Amino acid sequence: MRIGIDLDNTLADYSTPLLRLCALHGVDPGGDPKLALREHLRGAGRENEWTRLQGEIYGPLMAEALLFPGVADFFRRSLAAGTECFIVSHRTRQPILGEAHDLHSSARHWLRSVGLANVPVHLEESKSAKVGRIRSLGVNCFIDDLPELLSDSAFPEEVRRILFDPGNQHTDSPVWRRCSSWRSVASELFES
Ligand SMILES: [Mg+2]
Repeated sequence: MRIGIDLDNTLADYSTPLLRLCALHGVDPGGDPKLALREHLRGAGRENEWTRLQGEIYGPLMAEALLFPGVADFFRRSLAAGTECFIVSHRTRQPILGEAHDLHSSARHWLRSVGLANVPVHLEESKSAKVGRIRSLGVNCFIDDLPELLSDSAFPEEVRRILFDPGNQHTDSPVWRRCSSWRSVASELFES
C-alpha cells in the first residue's frame, strides 16, 4: 500500500504558535485559534496582516508546531505493514507578503526535528500541482485536513480519501472517511 499525507494541520499541529499569537493580539481563541485570529484580523480590515502572519506561522514559527498525537505510532505501524508513505504539501517557496522566509526549508527542517526525515516529501507550489503529485505517486490513500482538496474535481477518483478533522468541524461525506485522530486513521487503514 502507498499512502500520501498532507503536512500542515494534518501532521503539523500549529496550536502552540497560534494560541500565542491569539494572546498577543488579544483574541479569544475559542475552539479554533486559527479561525479566531483570521476572523479578528479580517474583521478589522487587516487581511494583509493575516496574510503576512501566515508567512511567519509556516516559516519561523513552524519550529513551535508539534506532531499531532498518534502520528509517530502511525508511522511505526506503516513500517510494520510494509506501507510506503509520502508527504505531499501545497506550500509556496516564499510567503505572499512580508519577510522572504524560505517556507520549504522551514518544512524540511521541522520534519527532521520531529524524526520524519526519512519520509519522502513533495512541496508543491500550487493546489493543482499537489493533486498532480498525488496522482503521479500512485497512492492508494490520501489523508488531508481540507475538504476542498479531497473534493477537487481533478482529484484521482480511485484514491481512497481520509479527511483528518481533529476539531470535528466537518461533516461526513460519500467522498471521504472522516477521522478525528491519528489513532482512528491507523485503525481505519491497518485494522480493516
Ligand atoms: Mg493541510
